[in-house]
Amino acid sequence: CGIVGYVGDRQALDVVIEGLARLEYRGYDSAGVALLTEEGLKTEKRAGKLVNLREALRERPLPASSVGIGHTRWATHGPPNDRNAHPHTDCKDRVAVIHNGIIENFAALRAELEERGHKLLSETDTETVAHLLEDALPEAGNDLAEAMRRVCRRLEGAFTLLAVQIDDPDVVVGARRNSPLVVGRGDGENFLGSDVAAFIAHTREAIELGQDQVVELRRESITITDFDGNPAETKEFTVDWDASA
Ligand code: GLU
Repeated sequence: CGIVGYVGDRQALDVVIEGLARLEYRGYDSAGVALLTEEGLKTEKRAGKLVNLREALRERPLPASSVGIGHTRWATHGPPNDRNAHPHTDCKDRVAVIHNGIIENFAALRAELEERGHKLLSETDTETVAHLLEDALPEAGNDLAEAMRRVCRRLEGAFTLLAVQIDDPDVVVGARRNSPLVVGRGDGENFLGSDVAAFIAHTREAIELGQDQVVELRRESITITDFDGNPAETKEFTVDWDASA
């Protein structure tokens, strides 16, 4: 139900957890994070409130990171438990995905993936996206944004998706259809959120992604295209409400 992404010089985990806390008002049943660290892609996720995730992170601290994504889930496919919490990863643990919404055609996609030998571990619609990205990456020259565009063209339903991959340690990729995604533009750092509350503590310069758009977020650049890779029209705005509200 809430989504946060970060690329920059701060500790990504702190920015992401703080953003998730600001989105708590929306309600959720599980929470999780994925970080790109010096030791590779690390994830942690827990059913229940953010306090459960924080407790798990205290027991098993994750290495420092400047790139991260975080999620609070409102379960639609599969009960709220640790396994169904997001992020979801591919077979090789090289891609992590978080998702708000519903992938309507996930059953057909899942059957196709299983036929190709993928082992899916959760009951969610979301996990199919991680495995589709795993297959799309080689075809996309290992470019995560291009892989995301290819995968999104196959998805039906409503989705805000964020993904990171181990081979692109400076990039978060986002995509949306029928579900919101907003970029926060910082100075040498950039943010993503399902709404501006996710990053309002850090920047008020925002860009609203339009329908069927993909964003590649780096420290110094924000590249937005449609699902075919054409440069996209976007709406820039300045958030003017009180951050403490
Ligand atoms: N459909 C996904 C799930 O059940 C995402 C739900 C959400 O929007 O949090 O896991």
